[in-house]
Amino acid sequence: MTSAEVANHYFRKAARIMDVGERIETLLATPVREVKVQVSIELDNGEIRTFQGFRVQHDNSRGPMKGGLRFHPQVDQAEVLGLASLMTWKTAVTNLPYGGAKGGVQVDPTQLSLKELERLTRKYVDQVHDLIGPTQDILGPDMNTNPQVMAWVMDQYSKYHGHSPAVVTGKPLELYGSKGREAATARGLQFIAREISRDVGLALAGLRFAIHGFGNVGSHAARLFHEDGGLIVAVSDVHGGVQNPRGLDVPALFEHVRKTGSVRGFGGGAACSSEEVLAADCDVLVPAALGGVVDARAAQAVRAKIVLEGANAPCTPEADEVFEKRGVLVVPDILANAGGVTVSYFEWVQNLQHLTWDEERVNTELHRVMREAYEKVAQISRSRKLPLRTSAYVLAIGRVGKATVLRGI
Ligand code: NAD
Repeated sequence: MTSAEVANHYFRKAARIMDVGERIETLLATPVREVKVQVSIELDNGEIRTFQGFRVQHDNSRGPMKGGLRFHPQVDQAEVLGLASLMTWKTAVTNLPYGGAKGGVQVDPTQLSLKELERLTRKYVDQVHDLIGPTQDILGPDMNTNPQVMAWVMDQYSKYHGHSPAVVTGKPLELYGSKGREAATARGLQFIAREISRDVGLALAGLRFAIHGFGNVGSHAARLFHEDGGLIVAVSDVHGGVQNPRGLDVPALFEHVRKTGSVRGFGGGAACSSEEVLAADCDVLVPAALGGVVDARAAQAVRAKIVLEGANAPCTPEADEVFEKRGVLVVPDILANAGGVTVSYFEWVQNLQHLTWDEERVNTELHRVMREAYEKVAQISRSRKLPLRTSAYVLAIGRVGKATVLRGI
């Protein structure tokens, strides 16, 4: 299944439970706009290279559309469409005044120099600048795009439309970024983990976590769970993994990653593969790398009681069914990893109001948004006896559907 099919699968499953009717279902599933653009740049050696760029704007009934920009060799129209629709449901679950969008360029950024990457980013903005904007469609970071890339987006867009920091979030702090944005997705996971552990009667201190992916989301999650007294028993990145049933020394692991760029080779545990991390003996599994890594086979091997989706769409629908049958509690991406877009929203608000919040205010507001979203989803789950994922979609579809009908079709 492509990511578009996965997102569509969950959407349709919930829409049928809600009995919204086929016409509204089609209306909500169909994106507002899909564009594919040519991104041609001159390489440092004088050669011309052409890449494909995408922007999908899925829904704008609840506000301007919001979604990241990713640079990855496997980016295609279908993936971007699936991720754009996930953003619609994610912003609705958290009740942010946004719709959903996503963009990407099919490129391996590790093969480009910094100057080439800058030219690529600026060219992409040249091609979509008329379709995006602070009240239309706001970009943000995603896989392989960082605050520097966001700064180039802001600068290039501003050349066409005047000074516009609010066209993109995840910017550097020195250039209208928000305090707390970098760790926001992981902090959201931490808040949700606290709520869940309380609800299922497990103490967070001593809870054992396995984390697949050690980038922005995975590494900050490891640090924050460790701060809460959790044990990080296994971690992996694209190069390999390390495990220790007694808990890894997290500060020492960070030092190792700072020196070597990977968790592989860390001396405080035994080397292991990414598959072993997914199947590690733990209480909470946090997939925080790529989409689709947990399929039905991997789901059978999972030993965690709780799966907290840090990545977007890490579990396939088949895996979801396995978890449901096995009684493993899955906290879906559109709830669990919504901390990032929530603080992106705070950044946009600060940019529009020309003021800055301190980190304490950002984290307090983030906590409120995540707690309210969790409580609503958990309440639907309890009252309708539905899994958390379906409940989150029910909440989101209700909000988007109501806004669509109120605005008029
Ligand atoms: P990142 O690029 O910072 O980190 C990705 C990590 O995954 C790296 O450690 C990488 O080595 C690892 N990885 C890649 N392939 C792997 C493999 N085959 N096995 C094991 N590890 C592998 O990305 P990120 O920002 O941390 O995002 C991770 C996921 O979370 C993505 O799905 C992204 O869409 C999602 N997400 C990110 C945010 C955010 O704010 N950054 C918000 C919501 C969702």
